Amino acid sequence: MADTPSDEQLLATVAEGEAEMEALLSDLVRARPVFGAEADGQDVMRRAFAGLGLDPVDVPLDADALRASPAASPFSWDVAGKASVIARWPSGGEGGRSLILNGHVDVVSAAPEALWSVDPWAATRDGEWMYGRGAGDMKAGLAAIVGAVAGLRRLGLAPCAPVELQSVVEEECTGNGAAACLLAGSRADAAVLTEPTAGQIWNAQVGVLWFSVRVAGTPAHAAYASSGDNAIEATYAVVRALRALEEELNAAPPPPFDAVEHPINLNVGTIRGGDWPSTVAGECVTECRLACYPGERVADLRARVEETVAAAARDDAFLSRCEVEVRYDGFQCEGYELAGGPLIDAVADAAERVSGTRPGLVASTATTDARTFHLYGDTPAICFGPRAERIHSIDERVHLPSMLSTAQAVALFVRDWCGVTSAQ
Ligand code: ZN
Repeated sequence: MADTPSDEQLLATVAEGEAEMEALLSDLVRARPVFGAEADGQDVMRRAFAGLGLDPVDVPLDADALRASPAASPFSWDVAGKASVIARWPSGGEGGRSLILNGHVDVVSAAPEALWSVDPWAATRDGEWMYGRGAGDMKAGLAAIVGAVAGLRRLGLAPCAPVELQSVVEEECTGNGAAACLLAGSRADAAVLTEPTAGQIWNAQVGVLWFSVRVAGTPAHAAYASSGDNAIEATYAVVRALRALEEELNAAPPPPFDAVEHPINLNVGTIRGGDWPSTVAGECVTECRLACYPGERVADLRARVEETVAAAARDDAFLSRCEVEVRYDGFQCEGYELAGGPLIDAVADAAERVSGTRPGLVASTATTDARTFHLYGDTPAICFGPRAERIHSIDERVHLPSMLSTAQAVALFVRDWCGVTSAQ
């Protein structure tokens, strides 16, 4: 193909867009797209896609359609007004392989903000690092996708099969922004998600379940505390039992997770109980996240959790006097593994030509939207992206040179995977 640019040409033209990528990353951090406030971030992404000369299209989250889909997670909140944003870069030729390039715009909260050494929403640059909530997870990845396509378009190129750019919502709580894209027909020969993988390829990931345990005790005046049942203290037994379940789940990890230290993590993420210092706590609700291995059904993990909580409620003298209930809201997603194949080879080739080092394959102890395309969209999916530190923690930051090298690798990968031709 006479129009195909060399590696050097492509790397150079993507590098010309470095300042624009950094500006987009800063705008995305400042947009503060936490849960329920994703719209400002999507405005930024709509403008970025339009700036590429593409037509951004909203994919609204349809509550009824999501609740009927096996690719979606349950949710109790109103999703009216929430939308993923996609932009289709149409094929200008023939014979290529199609592609989805995906990132999520939503970020977790920056709490407790007082612990940060910089304003988490100011996009502060210090040397080669950009600080901010979501800078690493995963605004730099979104900026790299835009930077890769911008570079190819500056060379007057179009792909030989459709490329769909996606900026999705709710990656951090349900995966339903990606599921909405799937329901709207997003399918391709491959999907690459530019999550912060530090230049490695995540080709496997755990599944994740969110659940809460509600313990209802008996409130009483603190002066007569023994006449009540304290729901907060009764909850200790629930957490102890769940920790024991976590250890069981880590006892004999199947490959590729046998190479990972403690792959299954239980997180006690929130706890809300009681309502007055002088009242025995009448209610306590604890929200948790637990993982499972690829090939395991989330329904089976739910059953394990319910059995564990029920056994604790039966055996613990304190807890047995309380009402105990397990509830579900948010993530219910399965893990997956893509053991090998042309997608992994092509991304590894592209990354190696940029950095000189061939990326390793990593089994991730987190979940990502990659599963949605892989398991339900017949679209092999992997994650590959920049180097970030302290995601979901204080002083989150991303290494800016890794955002550029991600964009360069994605551009080479698009050239080789889709094929390119002169845009008409
Ligand atoms: Zn992420």
